[in-house]
Amino acid sequence: MNSRKLAIAKIAERKVEYSDNTPQYEIDKEYGKDVFGIRAMEQYLPRPAYKKLVETINAGTPIDSSIANDVAHAMKKWAMERGVTHYTHWFLPLNGLSAEKHDSFLDPSGEIGNAITRFSGKNLIVGEPDASSFPSGGLRSTFEARGYTAWDPTSPAFIKRTGKVATLCIPTAFCSYTGVVLDKKTPLLRSMQVLGQQAKRLLKCFGEDSDAKPSVTLGAEQEYFLIDKALYMLRPDLMQTGRTLFGAPPQKHQQLEDHYFGAIKPRILNFMSEVEKELWRMGIPAKTRHNEVAPAQFEIAPVFEELNVAVDHNMVTMETLQKIADRNDLVCLLHEKPFEGVNGSGKHNNWSISVGEKNLLNPGNNPHENAIFLTVLCAIIKAVDEHADLLRSSTANAGNDHRLGANEAPPAIISIFLGDQLTDIIEQLEKGEAKSSKHGSQIKVGVDTLPALPADVTDRNRTSPFAFTGNKFEFRAAGSSQSCANPNIMLNTIVAEAFDEISTYLESLPKEEFQKGLQKKLSEIIKAHKRIIFNGDGYKEEWKEEAKRRGLPNLRTTPEALKPLLDEKNIVMFEKYGVLNRVEMVSRYEVFIEEFTRKVLIEAGLSINISRTMIIPAISAYLSKLSSAANSPWKNAATDEIGKCAADSLSEVLNATKSLEAEFEKKADIEKIKEKMAHLRKCVDKAEGIVEDSLWPLPKYRELLFIY
Ligand code: ADP
Ligand code: MG
Repeated sequence: MNSRKLAIAKIAERKVEYSDNTPQYEIDKEYGKDVFGIRAMEQYLPRPAYKKLVETINAGTPIDSSIANDVAHAMKKWAMERGVTHYTHWFLPLNGLSAEKHDSFLDPSGEIGNAITRFSGKNLIVGEPDASSFPSGGLRSTFEARGYTAWDPTSPAFIKRTGKVATLCIPTAFCSYTGVVLDKKTPLLRSMQVLGQQAKRLLKCFGEDSDAKPSVTLGAEQEYFLIDKALYMLRPDLMQTGRTLFGAPPQKHQQLEDHYFGAIKPRILNFMSEVEKELWRMGIPAKTRHNEVAPAQFEIAPVFEELNVAVDHNMVTMETLQKIADRNDLVCLLHEKPFEGVNGSGKHNNWSISVGEKNLLNPGNNPHENAIFLTVLCAIIKAVDEHADLLRSSTANAGNDHRLGANEAPPAIISIFLGDQLTDIIEQLEKGEAKSSKHGSQIKVGVDTLPALPADVTDRNRTSPFAFTGNKFEFRAAGSSQSCANPNIMLNTIVAEAFDEISTYLESLPKEEFQKGLQKKLSEIIKAHKRIIFNGDGYKEEWKEEAKRRGLPNLRTTPEALKPLLDEKNIVMFEKYGVLNRVEMVSRYEVFIEEFTRKVLIEAGLSINISRTMIIPAISAYLSKLSSAANSPWKNAATDEIGKCAADSLSEVLNATKSLEAEFEKKADIEKIKEKMAHLRKCVDKAEGIVEDSLWPLPKYRELLFIY
């Protein structure tokens, strides 16, 4: 038996645990057990320190360093009672992953053989990891290796359980000695702050001046694939790059659309349930689970939370998916396009902003609220149209290049879906006269000239990269493996700019002119930016043509999509709002483009290696088997034909490999390398349909996607 068949036999023997007597599980009691949250703080902190810390978290006031020692002591006690021996400052470097370096609470007391435990306020507030090996885009030369991590008290500390080990994780921001930002968390927090400020300012224009805290919210739907570990181990491409570099589409893949929302198989459900329980313990509000469109593809979605917490929680969710998969002899693939020919995976970024209890993207119950809603909507339309390129840049990576614009994912062209009803209203608003909605029930808007709003705006469109979905926007271009930080840094900053500009105008209006002026402003915005609104099918070829006519950017590849980070107007905007300075912007560009280049080169090198050491030998083995038939007494036209077919396939694969090798050696033109890789793949996938099945070394798509 070849190794593929052995792996399949092994999988066939796996026993799925089942139960017909499920013991009680109290979600509410288990939830947050491993979080140093409000409950733990109240129990473990002295009253005054508790009050101050909660104030910081709720009102966003600066942390009072005098309480740091109390908090650190309480955290240590709480964690040690739960089996923790080490803590780590947990942060989000620019490589798109999370980072951790563990320190134990151990403190030798000076007397031989004696020790105490210690975790000071200083240990809590700052860390000093050696930062020299994190990507910095030239920001920090290796001799100045020091990096600092700084505690983010607004994202709660939690215990992460890996294997038999429990570690206290303290979410932190990460910067260099000179204060230059080296992570994704810091600009995220800054962008949330500036958007919050501008949102309050906008509300003030409408006479709403309160102390309510602004908050930006995120619910990140996470798509992923699961395959059996035994098959994964036989795919060097999956192990090294996260995607299959070769593999012909199976006869049955997703044509029957029988996987989406289908009954979840027991092995997968056991896995999902284990993931959820682990997440709940860490206070991560996992809510929804289902089968996705492609075979072996699934989704997990949480209840939305404050943006920075949701970003952290999504990182932990990705890690947990992978960890629990391994425990179940599965592998979780988070790559944007692990398999060609079936759907890729995205991360639907559901985003909204509220001030106090008021969600600014909720059409309200009275005319006043609706006027605010329409203003916010217009601001977002303006922001997305003016900065579509920046939004696109935030989703650029090597994996997403294979997904965006494929027939199942949103195109690389950014557009907004509003649905028929809202679009109708927007059109009336543009004319500045109409007062009615042609659809359904209406909410009367008193502000004289603003049109009426329908009570429920819930059209759906799965093809749009940026869709209004009732009380939030859903940004769907983000890739499944990416941190949500970048897309939201962009979104927050560009919307803050639009709020700023509109507020500046509204503030300049005399009181009696307000309504008329507002109407005029919104009408102008719509006239100028309505080209970004598209309610049709974004998967169709015609849309690309139409988008071109409208002048919308279509940035297809990562290098194109990253360029806007270097545009002067964008740098100026990020500096103006204090989210990223010039040096930080340029360094981010460098880091992301470098990462892209490296990933493509790894894929190209591995394509060559697999072709030379696995594919070419397999075709050759088949040929030599055939040649014994060709030399036998029963040799005839059929044996000749089959032999020739295999020989042709061998030359095709060999030529394609050599051609890729030549381009790869030069390492000059990444696009060319990608083209040659695609060509080699075509030849290999063709060979897969020619060579005898038992000689083929790589598990096939029908095995990877259907045997679990
Ligand atoms: P879909 O139909 O796209 O699957 P769901 O109704 O299941 O949409 O919600 C998707 C995500 O949107 C969930 O994570 C949910 O918590 C989140 N969400 C809902 N309201 C908001 C909001 N105001 N801000 C951010 N995210 C939200
Ligand atoms: Mg969705």
